[in-house]
Amino acid sequence: MKAVQYRKIGSAPEVVEVEDPKAPPGGMVLEVTASGLCHSDEFVMSLDEKTFATYGYDLPMTLGHETAGRVVELGEGTTGVEVGDNVLVYGCWGCGVCDMCARGNENHCRRGMVSPGFGAPGGMAEYIPVDSVMHIVPIGDLDPIKMAPLNDAGLTPYAAIKRNLHRLRAGATAVVIGAGGLGHVAIQLLRRMSDAQVIALDLPGPKLAFAKEVGAHHALVSEKAAAEHVKELTQGHGADLVLDFVAGGPTPELAIACGGMQSAVVFIGAGDGHAKVGFGITPWEMSVSNSLWGSRLELMELVQMAMRQPLEIRTTPFPLDLAPMAYRMLHERKIDGRAVCIP
Ligand code: NAD
Ligand code: ZN
Ligand code: ZN
Repeated sequence: MKAVQYRKIGSAPEVVEVEDPKAPPGGMVLEVTASGLCHSDEFVMSLDEKTFATYGYDLPMTLGHETAGRVVELGEGTTGVEVGDNVLVYGCWGCGVCDMCARGNENHCRRGMVSPGFGAPGGMAEYIPVDSVMHIVPIGDLDPIKMAPLNDAGLTPYAAIKRNLHRLRAGATAVVIGAGGLGHVAIQLLRRMSDAQVIALDLPGPKLAFAKEVGAHHALVSEKAAAEHVKELTQGHGADLVLDFVAGGPTPELAIACGGMQSAVVFIGAGDGHAKVGFGITPWEMSVSNSLWGSRLELMELVQMAMRQPLEIRTTPFPLDLAPMAYRMLHERKIDGRAVCIP
């Protein structure tokens, strides 16, 4: 079958021929119906050899951690799923034994999670093996191209917003820094889940208009002065929740400057930025945290939400053969929303 692999440190991903996967006992093989491209793929491919080694991934690595597929083969002893079912592949495969996994937080597995696309073979291929029925979420007849990005571009902001929903009372304000793949879903989730005024920050260019198209009340250029503008739009109080989907360069300082007393700032982007936090530095009782993906239950909740009323996930479809070009376009910020490969 065809697969898109990252094969050599520092080189671009390639479309190659690999062996078809076999269904593992208790698991299955899916025919991939859609697979989203995430900035995190690029992040991993940008690491130098030494840093890459700390993640414990082997090369070649079949990319793709936002996968939708149709079950085509069941492994020995697999029950609870039928050939022909349409499903999403939950991306955080924990050990299943530790207390975090027992809580449903496989994304925080004490033994470290394996993800399809980061270590285990991913969904940028014609077929993908899935280790267990515990790692799929059925999607019925929903459009796999729109649903695949829920695995990450939807789930990651959903989990971060849900944890902070109590802050988004009537009249509250949320700031989204980086209206890209994750950010544009975050804007919609904020509008759907709360009454908050939503302010998006992005670099000068088309992303600002895009942020407003998908529901932001205001879209501001991401620069130091934006924090003053956020204060003006919040009676001087600052935002109640700030989601930073960049977390690189100046944005962590900017995120904190946008927040007010008793607010929360969540760093979600895989950037290497820093901000000072402390007594007399951050506003009183500001909570500052980072966030990694979400739980399978939260992915199910999101699918339920999309079944009730679809989220407007902006997708740009590419055939699998053009995945290397799609990654280049993602790098050049030429994709609005999510690029999705269709084998
Ligand atoms: P993306 O490239 O689709 O979007 C990034 C957006 O940020 C773009 O709109 C870009 O214009 C904007 N941007 C860049 N620099 C900016 C700045 N200084 N100020 C404001 N906006 C700026 O990326 P994505 O796929 O949405 O991923 C976003 C980030 O989240 C990446 O760093 C990715 O690795 C990370 N990520 C984290 C998790 C997690 O669980 N924590 C999960 C998925 C992705
Ligand atoms: Zn991702
Ligand atoms: Zn575990």
